[in-house]
Amino acid sequence: MSIFHPSENISTPYYQYDLALLRQTLQHASESAAVHGYKIHYAMKANNNPAITDTIRDYGLGADCVSGNEVAEALRQGFPAREIVYAGVGKSDKEIELALREDILCLNCESLEELQVTEEIARGMQKIAPVAIRVNPGVAANTHRYITTGLEENKFGVHLSQLREVLDFASESPWLQLMGLHFHIGSQITSLQPFEMLTTKVNDLWQTMNMDERGATLLNLGGGLGVDYDNPEGNSLPPFAEYFDVFARHLQVPGHVKVRFELGRSIVAQCGKLITKVLYTKKGVNRSFVIADAGMNELMRPALYQSRHHITNLTSTKAPQIYDVVGPVCESSDVFATHIELPQTGRGDLLAIHSCGAYSESMMLLYNMRDRAGVVLVNENSHGHMADEAYMSTVLSKGNEIS
Ligand SMILES: *Cc1c(COP(=O)(O)O)cnc(C)c1O
Repeated sequence: MSIFHPSENISTPYYQYDLALLRQTLQHASESAAVHGYKIHYAMKANNNPAITDTIRDYGLGADCVSGNEVAEALRQGFPAREIVYAGVGKSDKEIELALREDILCLNCESLEELQVTEEIARGMQKIAPVAIRVNPGVAANTHRYITTGLEENKFGVHLSQLREVLDFASESPWLQLMGLHFHIGSQITSLQPFEMLTTKVNDLWQTMNMDERGATLLNLGGGLGVDYDNPEGNSLPPFAEYFDVFARHLQVPGHVKVRFELGRSIVAQCGKLITKVLYTKKGVNRSFVIADAGMNELMRPALYQSRHHITNLTSTKAPQIYDVVGPVCESSDVFATHIELPQTGRGDLLAIHSCGAYSESMMLLYNMRDRAGVVLVNENSHGHMADEAYMSTVLSKGNEIS
C-alpha cells in the first residue's frame, strides 16, 4: 500500500472525497437506470457538500429533499425545480409554502392531516399542489431498526388501512393534483429481496387503489440500496444494474407512468474517507486503544446505528496488532471499531476511515464545542492511488477546503 503524506497545512480530521470515483459511480448508476427509462433523484441529506452535489447535478440527477432548507439548497445548487421532490413526516407550513412557491415536481405527503394543511396553504396561494402519497407498505428491509422505514410501527408514510381515504381526499380536492405513489422502505439494504417484495406491493396497490383511473403518472420507489462497508476498496461500485433489473422484471404499471428512485448512500458513500490522526495509544486491561482526533462529531453512524466502517493505517507498515479505535468525545459510544487488526499504530499515524461519503459530513455535530472538520478533494484515478502532496496543495490553494 502506498504511504500517504499530507501537507502540513491540512489539519486533521478531514473528509477526503474522490471525485473520480464519484463520477464512475454516477456513470454506472445513470446508465443502469437509463436502460429502463428510470430517473434517479439524489437524496441530498446523504451529503450536501457543493463539490459533491455539483458533480451529481452535472450527471442530470434530480434532487430528493427532506426539509425546506434542502429544497432551497438544491435550487441554489442548480437542480431544476421540476426535478425536486420533497418528503418528510413533519413539514412546517413555511416549508410547504416554499415548495409550492418554487414549483417543485412533487411533495411526498405522509398523512391525511398533512394533506389537509397542504390543501389549505395551496388554496391560500391560489396554486395547485402536486402531491404523491407516501405509502407505508409493511415491507421489512432487513436492516438496522433505526434505518427501517417501511414497517407498520414506523412513523413514515400512510398506513395501508387509511390509504384509500387519503387518496380519495387528494383525488377530489381542486387544490391538489395527485401525481402518484411514493415508497421508501429503508436504508443500507444489502439484499435485493426486500425490493422484489416492494414491487409486489406496488403492483397490487396500483391496481386496487385505481391509480390509473385517478390519473396518476408518477411512481417513486425511494432509495435504500446498500454499499459494502466491509470491503469498500474491493467493492466500490454498488450493484445498480441488478437493483434496477429487479424493478424492471417485476413492476407492472402502465408504460406512461414515470418511475423514479431516490438514491443517497449508494451514490456517495464510497467516494468519501475520513482522515484522522492518532493522538494517543493506551493499554486497557484486555485491550489496546487507539485514540484518534476524529470522533462521533465527524462520523456519527457507529454511535447511532452500531455500524462498522473499514479502517486502514496510511502511515504504518509494521506487524499487525489488535486495537479498539475510539474518538475523543466524552461519550462511551464514541467508538469506531472494536477488536480490529491494524499495523502497529502510534502517535502521529494517519488512519483512513472508509465509506464516509454518505451520512458523515452531513451529520456532523459540534458537541463538546469541537472544530468543524475540513474537506479535501482528490481525483484518485488521475493522481495515483493516493493524492500526492503537490496535488493536495493545489486543491487547497484553489480554495476547495471548506471548513
Ligand atoms: C434518506 C432517504 C432516501 C435515501 O436513502 P438511501 O438509503 O441513502 O438511498 C430516499 N428517500 C427518502 C424519502 C429518504 O428519506
